[in-house]
Amino acid sequence: MTTFKTFSEIIGQERAIGFLKGVMGRGKIPHAYLFAGIAGIGKTTAALALTQAINCKEPVNQGACGQCQTCRQVRSGNFPDLVFIEPDRQNIKIEQIRDLNRTLSFKPISGRYRVSIIRQAEVMTDEAANSLLKTLEEPPQNNILILNVTEPLALFPTIVSRCQKVLFRPIPVRAIVDWLVNNQSLGEDKAHVLAKISEGSLGKAIRMCEVEFIKKREYLLSRLIQLPGLSSEEALEMALQHKRKHKERGSHEIGKGEWDLFDLLSIWKSWYRDLLLTKLHCPADFLINVDFSQKLKNISRHFKIENLIDSFHMVDRSQRDLLQTRNVDIMMEHTVLTLKRLASQENNR
Ligand SMILES: [Zn+2]
Repeated sequence: MTTFKTFSEIIGQERAIGFLKGVMGRGKIPHAYLFAGIAGIGKTTAALALTQAINCKEPVNQGACGQCQTCRQVRSGNFPDLVFIEPDRQNIKIEQIRDLNRTLSFKPISGRYRVSIIRQAEVMTDEAANSLLKTLEEPPQNNILILNVTEPLALFPTIVSRCQKVLFRPIPVRAIVDWLVNNQSLGEDKAHVLAKISEGSLGKAIRMCEVEFIKKREYLLSRLIQLPGLSSEEALEMALQHKRKHKERGSHEIGKGEWDLFDLLSIWKSWYRDLLLTKLHCPADFLINVDFSQKLKNISRHFKIENLIDSFHMVDRSQRDLLQTRNVDIMMEHTVLTLKRLASQENNR
């Protein structure tokens, strides 16, 4: 989710924004930036704010005025010197970088600088990366490239070394809670659950509001609580039911189905984390699923600590594997059966 904002409207990224403004103030703007951080924390929003700031006709405090013609053009998506490159299915392909290089060979149309934002730059093919590397070695004047990445280590080191790195940190829970309470009219308790479960990603928290995540979470947790009592057949069905759901919702849309499963695994992970903390007598403030604190207390009694740790790791690993694994069904079956085994009475005696 990307919205158009000026620097001062971006929440929870004071350090990154302060850095960008500082560079602007010194007037020596690098030709390439690497914005690194998890999804949904404002990298693209900051890239757009930077586009406004460096092209604004009447900048205020090293930021955009938000009012002039250029600012309005950027906000309405009509700024001719803004280029977006996004993955075409799984990758950013060489043709996309070749097109970009062609565009860069011309002068900017109306702005001082043309800004090219490459989202998820880590999924460039090797050919695309090599082609971009040449551009980074001899960048055409009045062009700024911004590479957004969640995994900087997945990029060629030669690319990383030619960019000015800016680190975007997860947004503090308090800032997300306040934002959700003020902008989505959520109650404090629910906003707290979303802020914690989204792990510092405002974009993810907003998306969760849109899909009625809170309601869905209650259902999914009740199913997970029933898991130890299910037969193996029923447990396998539970693993594949999520798959059916994601097929029905149109898995042809890239990432959509995976995102659903990703959410499901986030919920499970938060559950085992909370069970473990409850077992260790941590205060309720630390819990994500605050509204389930009594249930957590009762259920944690039936678990050995090491089985809770293993369950947490199991879900955590599955979540990370999700984006790479082709056979999601097998992964989910394995996850559910392992969780069922770890929750069984015999294994907790
Ligand atoms: Zn302006």
